[in-house]
Amino acid sequence: MVKDSHCWVCGCQRLRLVKPSNIHGALTSSSFSITDSHYGMTGAIYQCESCAFLQCMDLAEVLPFYEDLVDPTYDAGRPERSIQARKILKIAHKLQPGGRLLDIGAGSGFLVEQAIQLGYRAEGIEPSAWLQKMALQRDLPIHLGTFPHAAASGTFDLITLIDVIEHVSNPVDLLKNIAESLAPGGTAIIVTPDVNSLAARILGRKWWHFRVAHIGYFNKRTLCFALDRAGLQSVFMCRPAWYFTATYVWERTHRYLPKFLHLATPSFLADTVIPVNLCDSWLIACKREKP
Ligand SMILES: [Zn+2]
Repeated sequence: MVKDSHCWVCGCQRLRLVKPSNIHGALTSSSFSITDSHYGMTGAIYQCESCAFLQCMDLAEVLPFYEDLVDPTYDAGRPERSIQARKILKIAHKLQPGGRLLDIGAGSGFLVEQAIQLGYRAEGIEPSAWLQKMALQRDLPIHLGTFPHAAASGTFDLITLIDVIEHVSNPVDLLKNIAESLAPGGTAIIVTPDVNSLAARILGRKWWHFRVAHIGYFNKRTLCFALDRAGLQSVFMCRPAWYFTATYVWERTHRYLPKFLHLATPSFLADTVIPVNLCDSWLIACKREKP
């Protein structure tokens, strides 16, 4: 039963089912873990007949799962995730070389930590009490909750939304709030998977971004449309790389292979961090449109 059947990007009420749910059993917060590897498992995906946005309406109320989220594997990947954050900040730095930074969906504070080292006055917001506590243990200013947040008031020169927008059922409102919180000339950086990418089309329903936690699937067109509706204008786009240990990539790749091809990770590779770029995400930098 679809309770609120309108497109989260354009508001159109004509939506059609394109992928039935293959979730078995009750959902728990671990179903929403950042390192979840049940690729291809999603709620029922509906497509908007007007703008083609894909969304899981039955999973619109997911915040309680994030509030209870505990994901030790995520923080174990701190070195490689810090490299990834630094690469994103390197791009951001060219557009916004300093000032006040807000990271929305900050996790345990990888990006905020790197941003502080680069000279930004950085803070973040994170709904998971467990992740926020990890950040506080490192003296990183991460506020518990969601954006907008009373403790992160005022305007920001740089707002980052890295792999977050695909987790929410109100993407346009979130982007509008970001637009309103940008200082004059400020920049927002948004990263999200691209459902129209070649990798997504080749892997089909087994694409690694098809997972329970992802309830909205953007492509370049729907993302730019959502930005436009929020009063934001794209000024730069690229395909960001991710950084993983070779062990992680080896294990995750094996999920696509038949069992007889499974091999142990070569020990000489174990701690090597490698960039992975399947060109299946977008990084968009945007500014507030002039009134
Ligand atoms: Zn739509």
